[in-house]
Amino acid sequence: MLQPPAHVDTVLTALRAAGYAAYPVGGCVRDGLMGRVPADWDVCTSARPDQTAAVLAGFRLIETGMRHGTVTVLTDGGPVEVTTFRTDGDYADNRHPDKVTFVPDLASDLARRDFTVNAMALGPGGEVVDLYGGQADLAAGLIRCVGDQDTRFGEDALRILRALRFASKLDFAIEPATAESALRNRALLEHVSPERVFSELKGILAGPGAGRVLRAYGAVIFQVIPELAPLAGFDQRSPHHIHDIWTHTTMAVDAMAPDPVLRLTMLLHDVGKPPRFFTDGNGVGHFYGHADTGAEMAEIILRRLRCDNATRKTVVTLIKYHDMAPPQTAKSMGRLVRKLGEDRVRQLIACWRADSSDRSPDVVARNMAVIGASEAALEAALREEPCFSMRDLAVDGRDVMDLGVPEGPAVGAVLAELFRQVTEGETPNERAALLERARVLAEGY
Ligand code: ATP
Ligand code: MG
Repeated sequence: MLQPPAHVDTVLTALRAAGYAAYPVGGCVRDGLMGRVPADWDVCTSARPDQTAAVLAGFRLIETGMRHGTVTVLTDGGPVEVTTFRTDGDYADNRHPDKVTFVPDLASDLARRDFTVNAMALGPGGEVVDLYGGQADLAAGLIRCVGDQDTRFGEDALRILRALRFASKLDFAIEPATAESALRNRALLEHVSPERVFSELKGILAGPGAGRVLRAYGAVIFQVIPELAPLAGFDQRSPHHIHDIWTHTTMAVDAMAPDPVLRLTMLLHDVGKPPRFFTDGNGVGHFYGHADTGAEMAEIILRRLRCDNATRKTVVTLIKYHDMAPPQTAKSMGRLVRKLGEDRVRQLIACWRADSSDRSPDVVARNMAVIGASEAALEAALREEPCFSMRDLAVDGRDVMDLGVPEGPAVGAVLAELFRQVTEGETPNERAALLERARVLAEGY
């Protein structure tokens, strides 16, 4: 029997003792029934938000969501979101309910939820309240809308992407009527904010079913990233490739570790290919410059999706370098590490591997050997050339100022010159030698 952990039980018991109904609901019930450890436990209750806050006044509470019915209870075991039973009222614009209405009963609250597997609650005796066949769909591995799919996607088009996200995350299929409706209604996604789209997109990419979902629902993805649409069915006319670009893309996503940033890189890595395509005199296809073009396109796409700056910069850099020949010597690898940093280079190696995975077997073997050698060159470079970033210089800004250089950009300029001298082998990365050089440079200030 599914049993909430102690900190959730405390919240449930307090609400029930005060005469309110209270149930764990949604993702935690779904995950628990699947034998997974729920990421977090959400509770729904008949108590209005002010009543919930009064009952749980002994805890630290976050009350910012109260207008929508949610009080977050900070227990020792973690936060628990407690939300008043509600319906979502009318959706005039395919995205936001015009108003939420608090309702007295669990059934109406379950009816507003998106998919049957997400619409189950756990009663006081551990019994599963399942009004829409959620357990049967869980057993069959199906994502199915609660109620009429066209209505539900029309109310909130984000649910189209959520269907894909749960199909990927749980490795489920989407039930045929729900799938058909998701595809047919995809243009409604135009009304959804880029932030919400991007968050679901990362969720789709991070799941074990990512590649399969991208292949089956490419049209939905192309709705939110139209630049990817030309990849579908694009014949590369090359002996190096065995699939069209979109199929290759989806397989490269699967071949990458399930990290949202790296999988986002694989999703976009060949977006620059169609505009760079040409065939040579022998009818063989080439895509010279597609990495640079792809990096530029990814920059535009990720800005439009309101991707955070750190992720955007990483993805754009990795795409820019994804098609380079993997350096084979410590020296050439050292240059790359100085340009990109060790972490980025390690990510790049992962991209090369994922990009090389769906080729003919002999090509895979050859590429993997080259990438393996490049990885060995990285280890050698890190061993042999210990000075890789300004931080690793044997002197710092304090030392430079002690030599009379005024605080400010001049200090950085001196350090940059010392760094250059060390990396070019003109000076060893040793304190005495660097102070000597710095003294000469300091005379200029
Ligand atoms: P995860 O473990 O990925 O967070 P989850 O089921 O908890 O999965 P959330 O997005 O956190 O997913 O949403 C919590 C619950 O709220 C869902 O299980 C679902 O019942 C309901 N829900 C969330 N968003 C919507 C939506 N747009 N439309 C209808 N119901 C929704
Ligand atoms: Mg959740």
